[in-house]
Amino acid sequence: EHMKSRGQHFLANPLIIQGIIDKADIRATDVVLEIGPGNGALTAKLLEKAKKVIAIELDTRWAAELQKRFGVMHGNKLEIINNDVLRVDLPFFDICVANLPYQISAPITNKLLMHRPQFRCAVLMFQREFALRLCAKPGDELYCRLSLNTSLLAEVQHLIKVGKNNFKPPPKVESSVVRITPRSNPPAINYMEWDGLIRLAFGRKNKTLGATFRQKDVIDLLKNNYNMHAAIMKSKNASSGDVTMGDQSSGKEEKKFDEVKQTILEILEAENMSEQRPAKLDVDHFLTLLNAFNVKGFHFA
Ligand code: SAM
Repeated sequence: EHMKSRGQHFLANPLIIQGIIDKADIRATDVVLEIGPGNGALTAKLLEKAKKVIAIELDTRWAAELQKRFGVMHGNKLEIINNDVLRVDLPFFDICVANLPYQISAPITNKLLMHRPQFRCAVLMFQREFALRLCAKPGDELYCRLSLNTSLLAEVQHLIKVGKNNFKPPPKVESSVVRITPRSNPPAINYMEWDGLIRLAFGRKNKTLGATFRQKDVIDLLKNNYNMHAAIMKSKNASSGDVTMGDQSSGKEEKKFDEVKQTILEILEAENMSEQRPAKLDVDHFLTLLNAFNVKGFHFA
């Protein structure tokens, strides 16, 4: 039966439903994005509070069901988009509310964090473990790439613990409701670079950075990136006529393995990072580190 086919667990406790609505703090002027409305348990309450509800529902039968249930009374307030949320461009919204299948927790979180213009907050149901990872701070056991990347762009607050029996049918795992509030001034960085550094660091999150950056494959990567970026800069300068003398700049910029290794270790030393472990470092540490590498011409993407 289609309702069971995608790990669907419907909210069955009115207190939890009301809790989610209260925590979303919806204003009468708000456009609310609901993802995965299903049979409309949350949608009904959202329609009472918001100016407009845009509901993205993958399942055609549920989309039709919603239209039937709310179309007459709230026809001009409710917009139903019958599609996969991961495949559509999200519309403008102030608040997002969702109880989604837990398989898409990571991609939907990422999609929301990257969404512009920024929304006010998102109140989302997740598997407990995923929720705790999102909220984890440096030094916590569950602190990971997801925690760090999220805290780069948003603040996350754990709101409600939700036991299995609040759903029909009950899932196998415990759940939690969290609130994600985007930072109003996210750092202006190159996300590809950031991601490159963070993947590298968290590949061995309990090793010292000194140990990680001494590895041959890491040094090779930074060497190749360095030489590639240097070559791109050179050709850019050449095409803009802004070059000193052909021979002077060629050859000199190619860095060799040992030179790269030494410079990398000097950068780590200068930033007091050689003995640090990623599991204990926060966003500011990594931003400082990324900048220190970049200004010396080292890139992670
Ligand atoms: N929100 C309802 C509730 O709390 O009772 C339903 C929750 S049920 C866990 C998840 C809902 O999300 C289902 O209606 C399902 O069809 C829908 N859904 C699953 N994957 C989706 C996707 N990729 N895009 C949009 N909706 C999706």
